Amino acid sequence: MYDVWQNTLAEIEQQLSPANFSTWFQDTTLLSTKGGHIKIGVKNTFYVKQLRNRYYNIISTALQNNRVNVVDISFEVKSPVKSKVRSREVTNSPLVERIKSIRRPTLKSDKPRQDGLNQKYTLDNFIVGSNNDVAVAAAKSIVDAPGTRYNPFFLYGGPGLGKTHLVQAIGNELSLKNPHLKILYTPISDFFSDFVDAVRNGKGKEFNRKFQELDCLIIDDFQFIVNKEKSQEEFFNIFNNLYQLNKQIIVTSDRLPSQIKTVDERLASRLTWAGAFDLQLPKFEDKCAILRAKAELMGAEIEPKAIEYIAENVNTNIRDLEGEFSAILLMSEVRGLTPLELIENGSVSVNKSTKLRPVSPRQVIDKVAKYYEITPKELCSRSRVANIKNARQVAMFIISKELGLSTNKIAAEVGVKDHTTVMHGIRKIENDLKLNFALRDQIETIKEKIYG
Ligand code: ADP
Ligand code: MG
Repeated sequence: MYDVWQNTLAEIEQQLSPANFSTWFQDTTLLSTKGGHIKIGVKNTFYVKQLRNRYYNIISTALQNNRVNVVDISFEVKSPVKSKVRSREVTNSPLVERIKSIRRPTLKSDKPRQDGLNQKYTLDNFIVGSNNDVAVAAAKSIVDAPGTRYNPFFLYGGPGLGKTHLVQAIGNELSLKNPHLKILYTPISDFFSDFVDAVRNGKGKEFNRKFQELDCLIIDDFQFIVNKEKSQEEFFNIFNNLYQLNKQIIVTSDRLPSQIKTVDERLASRLTWAGAFDLQLPKFEDKCAILRAKAELMGAEIEPKAIEYIAENVNTNIRDLEGEFSAILLMSEVRGLTPLELIENGSVSVNKSTKLRPVSPRQVIDKVAKYYEITPKELCSRSRVANIKNARQVAMFIISKELGLSTNKIAAEVGVKDHTTVMHGIRKIENDLKLNFALRDQIETIKEKIYG
């Protein structure tokens, strides 16, 4: 059992705010997985209750994603001193070491220097594809001339698509070019807690000064700004001051500022003044290119067919892609078989796609109708009024992609004549999505409402 808990934690970390993650998961250990009866060691009984009530499902899913069979999960109080997060090593070969280094890119313990930059993230090892080429071009232009055209640089996209990597790379390249530049990378949650600490200790002014002296401020995971009015104001002030001095500001988020309810409207619009750049899911070719590059970087041997197999079967994000890739390499090292041999003899089965969650077509129709301010009845009518028709097509698209219903069933749900109309509608939305960024955001927002 290799670093399973590490990887599970890395996955859980993606889903929680940094504060919640470190509060509840920092001192946990995986004690046993025998027979699917998972035992997790925690600090004290308070944690047992909280973890069971609040995080049972998240833990269970994350374990399963790391190939752990889960029948049930129990929590036991264990002294954290004896049980550090790290788990046993399988072997210490150089390849295993390299695999390990890419397998736990996100844990706090990796946290590097004062400026928050981690040198392993570079532009050289960030693979450019159709999913990120525009953002990368902007990033390069920032390295050439910080504080000019793309200021602020707002980068958004789903988890695991490379936001942290790309903005860290900008920081690293800037610092290489000019070691005198004052650069600071900070997740927004750290910004808040540092701010609160500073105020509590009567050091608000110093806090402010530290930021005012920066040449480049990189704020990661801006979406966690929710419910932080006071610190939001502070952030806004710092933002404005730096901006006026033409200092480079870089902000990442999993969605557009306008989609974060509690963000001040003025701040939201300022953040995207210079545009909003997004990172998208990689296409098959992009995924293959990423895997080939990773293999080369690690000096690992892997057959093109094995790369294609992984690329075809991981449809979630690049983090998962890397995870599956290194799991196969590791198994190959341990068992003495090539990756393709492992795949062909059925030792590994990769299947990572966006989870289908229990949602009914009716729920989708209701949410879509509400979003477009029409009634579900209008949506399911034969009306050809443009906005009604568009809403109907969006509903058909979401039902097809998220629930996987057949076009015949969708036709019955949405009340259209036959399945060809459904096919046409879905294709229309697919095509529009290629260029219409507003539509992409609308659909993302609707999906959040459906699952939220
Ligand atoms: P996010 O911050 O968007 O959640 P990360 O920047 O943490 O995502 O990326 C997840 C993992 O995928 C990291 O290990 C990162 O190095 C890797 N990654 C993402 N995009 C690329 C890319 N284009 N080329 C190489 N590695 C990538
Ligand atoms: Mg990130």
